[in-house]
Amino acid sequence: MFAFRLPPSACRLRYPDPMVYRGAIGNRPAMLSVKDTSISLAFEAEWVAAWDLGGRFYSLWKHGDTYRRGLGGRLLAKRGRTGVGPQKAALTGEPADVVVQETAERAEDLRLALERDPRAWTGRDGGHPPEDAMLWVGRAARFDAAAARADAARFASVYGTVGILPPDQYLATVLQGTEGCSFGTCTFCNLYPDGYRVKSAEEFRRHAEAVRDYLGDSASLRGRAFFLGAANALAVPMARLGEYFDAIPRAFGGPPRPVHAFVDGFTGLLKTAGDYAALRAKGLGRVYVGLESGHDPLLAFVRKPASAEQAIETVRAVKSGGAEAGVIVMIGLGGRTFAEGHVRDTVAAVNRMGLGAGDLIFFSELVESPGTAYPAAAAAANIEPLDRDARAAQIEAIRAGLAFEGRPPQMARYDVEEFVY
Ligand code: SF4
Repeated sequence: MFAFRLPPSACRLRYPDPMVYRGAIGNRPAMLSVKDTSISLAFEAEWVAAWDLGGRFYSLWKHGDTYRRGLGGRLLAKRGRTGVGPQKAALTGEPADVVVQETAERAEDLRLALERDPRAWTGRDGGHPPEDAMLWVGRAARFDAAAARADAARFASVYGTVGILPPDQYLATVLQGTEGCSFGTCTFCNLYPDGYRVKSAEEFRRHAEAVRDYLGDSASLRGRAFFLGAANALAVPMARLGEYFDAIPRAFGGPPRPVHAFVDGFTGLLKTAGDYAALRAKGLGRVYVGLESGHDPLLAFVRKPASAEQAIETVRAVKSGGAEAGVIVMIGLGGRTFAEGHVRDTVAAVNRMGLGAGDLIFFSELVESPGTAYPAAAAAANIEPLDRDARAAQIEAIRAGLAFEGRPPQMARYDVEEFVY
């Protein structure tokens, strides 16, 4: 299904602006939108689905509920108006199949309607859907539940666990120089239970080529940037990182695109500003640092392997090297016991990082996941959790204390429960 590959750059040139065509499926109004990254179908006023140009379904809005499918096959459901089931749920197996199947059948209805009479679909300029649209709609129609399951299996053959990404990078092309986390000690985290390993340059080259071939035209949606995974990829020695960075344009070609990555505050400090400048010259874009808190006693309590000072120095080195920084602050970590110190010292730490325009600050609420050590450790320490209002107040207190020279960084909430890749 995904053998045909159109370079993303070519897609961009073809459809710089979304093209919208109105028509009907049966006697019910519908709208087809063709973009350089995706196609979407709006059916009556209550159903909108989107697929990338490889035909992989990735989002559905239906009667106020939204569904987002990751390449790995996980489907995130967010309830809106129906109120059926939990507000957010990760669907797998049959419930996911039902959603995917519905979108494929509706795409097939569209394909038949277009095939029957493409001229019944009209854009604002009086034009009709291009041939490319037929190709892409056909792919979407073939992406049914069985195809989605097969595709998820193929994803698993190409990728190790993609545990998390910064929220502005959910549509990056992930490339895994490393798998897992080099520490794995933080008590609130269970993202990488399978250990840590670093790929050789040759293995990474083969991985990058496998990702390219797997994505095919789906790269249209995920082609703006690369994300070098996993949790702490920049901890790898410079010589190997250089080989990774060199392998990316060789595998993907096309215009240069930034390569973003995580690093922790401890190993990030083992690289100098000169190292970050050298990586910047090879395409390094933004480096994301999980500060979590500027309060060292809280970092020690959650067994985070970095002090606030180390995280500050890492961010300053990244920025001195010319890269941008993304800093993640956890909200609610340490409950009421640590709240005062957390706010005070986090404000002080972030204010010393030299952040500005182009940098990002994310506020990520603590999720007490089953299987992590944090809930038991917090209970043993008599830590009273912060409720929703107290967490919102904590974000506001931190924001109120932040001060920047010149234009400030952008700030946003970061809901890790909405992550899907
Ligand atoms: S460093 Fe990051 S990925 Fe590793 S255990 Fe801590 S929070 Fe999890």
